[in-house]
Amino acid sequence: MPLTPEQEAEIARQRATPRQTLRAVSEGMETHLYTAYPVLDHGFVRVIDYMGDDAAIVQAARVSYGAGTRHVSNDEGLIRYLMRHWHSTPFEMCEIKLHVKLPVFVARQWIRHRTANVNEYSARYSILDREFYIPAPEQLAAQSTVNNQGRGELLEPAEAARVLEILKGDAARCYDHYEAMISDDGQQGLARELARMNLPANIYTQWYWKTDLHNLFHFLRLRSDAHAQYEIRVYAEEIGRLVADWVPLAWQAFLDYRVGGATLSAKALDCLRRMLNGEEVTQETSGLSKREWREFVEVLG
Ligand SMILES: Cc1cc2nc3c(=O)[nH]c(=O)nc-3n(C[C@H](O)[C@H](O)[C@H](O)COP(=O)(O)OP(=O)(O)OC[C@H]3O[C@@H](n4cnc5c(N)ncnc54)[C@H](O)[C@@H]3O)c2cc1C
Repeated sequence: MPLTPEQEAEIARQRATPRQTLRAVSEGMETHLYTAYPVLDHGFVRVIDYMGDDAAIVQAARVSYGAGTRHVSNDEGLIRYLMRHWHSTPFEMCEIKLHVKLPVFVARQWIRHRTANVNEYSARYSILDREFYIPAPEQLAAQSTVNNQGRGELLEPAEAARVLEILKGDAARCYDHYEAMISDDGQQGLARELARMNLPANIYTQWYWKTDLHNLFHFLRLRSDAHAQYEIRVYAEEIGRLVADWVPLAWQAFLDYRVGGATLSAKALDCLRRMLNGEEVTQETSGLSKREWREFVEVLG
């Protein structure tokens, strides 16, 4: 179950008691506030709070540029200018606080993003739920032969079924042992902080995660990229949908310059200039390594 009945009741209570505010409000984000959006088999993402909107970014930029921004005709143009020129601090004026439920192995990747504030469920204090991420069969793939850090072809159905059985069996057995160890029924009962070491990395944890829009964009760019592991990518994609409604102008600029755009090295740029001048450039004459050349050609489509 993604949310407990108590959590659902709390959300219903919060949504039923709107309050007036003088603060900037993003209409798009208001529609999402508190709602839990499912991710993977037991996970979710929900917005607990946010600060600022597109106008807050513009407002902060106009403080730093003053009269100099008047020639930028509108908010969209200014936000695109800021994104284009890596003038990032105005984006830090917007903040978001998320409640996320995620498997522990996904949390290990996520926590590497240090520019955030985190408060995690305590498995020293509380008993973890019997909830494990079990991949859908279409996610059960073999080790990639071209990318050491990824997956390749789908497993054959019989092998996939065998893997699923192992995953489910191990999760159930480990949780049974966890329960048996912490039980104080006829025994002292092992401390939760110790018993948890027996649990596999696909068990779910939860945390509150707060960050600013600049660092969130950095997270989303890395984790919604095709190179990111599927299990964290789906969280990034879900958060992206929320951000698109929260700060639509900044989101479009982010898609344009960071997601859809590309950075070219000086050598690659030189190749492009030569090509535009009609020269037939090959990998051998490009000055780029084979890998650089392949990536350059991919950028050119
Ligand atoms: C596809 C992919 C594969 C990866 N593979 C691996 C792997 O194999 N092994 C591994 O260990 N990690 C791996 N990572 C994690 C990666 O190296 C980063 O730790 C992670 O993406 C967080 O990025 P970040 O440090 O830029 O983000 P944040 O921690 O949010 O930091 C944002 C920026 O702040 C600055 N910053 C923050 N803290 C410091 C600091 N202490 N010192 C200096 N500057 C700081 C840096 O400029 C940084 O870019 C992988 C990430 C991705 C997306």
